[in-house]
Amino acid sequence: MKKIFGQSIYLGNVLGIPIKIHWTFSLLILWIFGSNIYRGASIESALWSVLFVLSLFACVFLHELGHAMAARRYGIRTMSILLLPIGGVASLEKIPSDPKKEMIVAFAGPAVNAVISLLIGTYYFITGFPELNMESLAQINSGNIFFMIMTANIFLGGFNLIPAFPMDGGRVLRALLSIRMGRVKATRAAVSVASVFAVLFVIYGIYIRNPFMAVIALFIYMGARSEFEAVKTEFFIAGSVVKDVLMRKFTVLDAQSPLKTAIEALLNGQETAFLIKENEVITKILTKTDIIRGLSEKGNESSIGESASEIRFFVHESMPLEDLIDVIRRENVSVVPVKSGEEVIGMVDINNLTEFQLLKAATSHG
Ligand SMILES: [Zn+2]
Repeated sequence: MKKIFGQSIYLGNVLGIPIKIHWTFSLLILWIFGSNIYRGASIESALWSVLFVLSLFACVFLHELGHAMAARRYGIRTMSILLLPIGGVASLEKIPSDPKKEMIVAFAGPAVNAVISLLIGTYYFITGFPELNMESLAQINSGNIFFMIMTANIFLGGFNLIPAFPMDGGRVLRALLSIRMGRVKATRAAVSVASVFAVLFVIYGIYIRNPFMAVIALFIYMGARSEFEAVKTEFFIAGSVVKDVLMRKFTVLDAQSPLKTAIEALLNGQETAFLIKENEVITKILTKTDIIRGLSEKGNESSIGESASEIRFFVHESMPLEDLIDVIRRENVSVVPVKSGEEVIGMVDINNLTEFQLLKAATSHG
């Protein structure tokens, strides 16, 4: 994406967010002005057209600012807002993984466009609608520019609600799906929907003989593609189960033993977490972090049981890895004990998963 988009110009900060505009924007303005003059418009009316396009991008900017403000509510920073001739991009530090929050952040953009068109509509409702016909709409002037901005905002908001990446509607769809099926599967489903839309736009473009539709299709396709890239590591694990990344070698320590036993085991082996049994039943887990904290707070003669954390859940060896990742994210744990039937057979930790992804990445083609 970066190579295609290239250089952009820094405009300034708004509410602490750097605003950038892409250099090709100047081409768009020149083209609007030039094409107006070319088809015989006066300089004045060509300037009205330019003013209209600039207002439009002010609305695009406000749309992006809407996303940024909603994200700020959840403590997510916006790294920059970039204005491109094809629209705007607000680069959020991260996408909220809570579906409800992701939905609100996604809706905030189109909501801004709805508010702008409602404001203009209300103004017209009070003062009376201007008399417009197709002929008077062909050229933008002081009499119809607000009507055009209102219409454009309805289009902008509506277009962005198409349920295909990279449109906001695509994010809403992914958020809705991820309530039911987990984030990885939801993303894959939403990317498929976006590809279908891209194909539909191409077919429609051929049908109405409008090359602009192909541009939109390409835009959707590229957006879906980059969304796919973003979750690519997650896709690598599709089709694998917990058993594939299982650490089968594990040590069980007794809850009554002093903490120094765990320190010895930690120093002697490769393991970074231990399972802890109380009365012959595995009930707790002791991670490296637990050991370090226990050592500084309670000393090495304190019992392991005091420092270990209660196991909140086990996962089954046949659980798909994409579900495991969702569980790890949701529960915010680093190590998960694994069962086969009723028997504890090992553990998985985040490092295993990363290694596994790297291996898969190295062995997969395309
Ligand atoms: Zn948006």
